[in-house]
Amino acid sequence: MADDAFTVLNDRRAVLAERALVAWLRECASATPDTRPCASPEEAAALVAPVLEGLLARAAEFHARLDRWIALALRPVRDRVACAKSCATCCRHYVCSVEPFEHLRLYAALRETPGFAAALERAALNERRFAPLWERAERAAAAEAVEETGKPEHDDLFYDGLLQRYYELRLPCPVFSAAAGTCGRHDARPASCRLYFALDDPKFCEPENLRAGAGRGFLLELPDAVEEAIGEWSGRLEGLDLGDRMADALLRLNVLDGILFGATSACCGTPGAPSSSSPPRSTPSRG
Ligand code: SF4
Ligand code: SF4
Repeated sequence: MADDAFTVLNDRRAVLAERALVAWLRECASATPDTRPCASPEEAAALVAPVLEGLLARAAEFHARLDRWIALALRPVRDRVACAKSCATCCRHYVCSVEPFEHLRLYAALRETPGFAAALERAALNERRFAPLWERAERAAAAEAVEETGKPEHDDLFYDGLLQRYYELRLPCPVFSAAAGTCGRHDARPASCRLYFALDDPKFCEPENLRAGAGRGFLLELPDAVEEAIGEWSGRLEGLDLGDRMADALLRLNVLDGILFGATSACCGTPGAPSSSSPPRSTPSRG
């Protein structure tokens, strides 16, 4: 898996193309109509479409390889794994630790579905509900911080408590399809969803059971070489400023939609504009 994944993620031609695309988008963001003429929709599409197409294909290939790796990794406990495609209690978690190329894959898939607008509405709602929890957790952490620094400590306990409080709100993930009772784009879900499992009856995945420590959910750990390859790809896309929180990134991508998917010109000052809330740009895995 490790070597293959590295090849898929960081193919040399793709590296150069993606770097150029991100640099161009950043240039558009910082320029004004006086300093740089906007590309026409046709010019923008010619620049963006082939790079985006390659990126989405490699993201899909990465997820396919990841699924094969997961199937092997789960062999020792396969008979005890309780998870199924139709089981969705855990789809109320706040989904984070998502890579930029995964945000792009999910967004591109989602915008093809009839539930796209509703998904964006749920993303906005999720962010509105997450923001005050984050602020409250920051205040509590700051109050407990050592006197010398006075700064809140964002350790595992901080994030665990924050994510648990959010989970107790039982808000469906933006991608969740109430009509189907399952993930609305299961094929394009991020690795943080693919790697999360439980060994007990799904009732133990309910928020109150997780809080009581009764649940036995776990995240599979990827090999270091794969994490490094993912980190290299994500670092290259950092200039898109998508962060690692799914709901926030979907909203940010919606602002870039016209440029990325070829409907509008790359107007100066557009990319990188949105900020749906104040919480962190980096949070740990859900679960
Ligand atoms: S983690 Fe729990 S709720 Fe999620 S699919 Fe597995 S058993 Fe179901
Ligand atoms: S992306 Fe899909 S699998 Fe992941 S939490 Fe959302 S609905 Fe569930």
